[in-house]
Amino acid sequence: MEQALNKSYWKTKSLVDFSTEEWEALCDGCGKCCLHKIEYADTGEIEYTNVACTLLNENSCKCKDYTNRHKKIPDCLVITTKTINKIKWLPDTCAYKLVWEGKDLYWWHHLKSGSYQSVHDAGISVRGRTISEDEDVDLHDHIVDWIENE
Ligand code: SF4
Ligand code: SF4
Repeated sequence: MEQALNKSYWKTKSLVDFSTEEWEALCDGCGKCCLHKIEYADTGEIEYTNVACTLLNENSCKCKDYTNRHKKIPDCLVITTKTINKIKWLPDTCAYKLVWEGKDLYWWHHLKSGSYQSVHDAGISVRGRTISEDEDVDLHDHIVDWIENE
């Protein structure tokens, strides 16, 4: 049976103490981490593109096969408490990054707003802004500047 999440648990618990349910619920559903990035070997600079993984549902911004994602897409990101501070390209709005840095979630996060729709209404998610990698595009033609990443 599912248990109700404690109110504001992300502010009172350490990430390492999250239950699986709390960990999964922290994702805001923005879909930004499912976009292809370009990393320049000489500078280490990273640019985002709007080219999405084949498994990203462009409307819901959720994975079409979350359970089997790592079997189907071997380089699908795995965020854990061991890897989170090593992933340079996570967007600044990513809930895992925010909580790891001791910050609060934004108002549009479903854990605050009570709705999975608010991440879309606030213009934070990738809904309506992506093209699938199945289109066989050149990533360099699809660099975008609407994802903030320090
Ligand atoms: S960027 Fe972070 S919050 Fe957004 S979908 Fe990816 S893991 Fe979830
Ligand atoms: S497999 Fe799913 S979770 Fe992983 S990058 Fe693709 S759409 Fe995102």
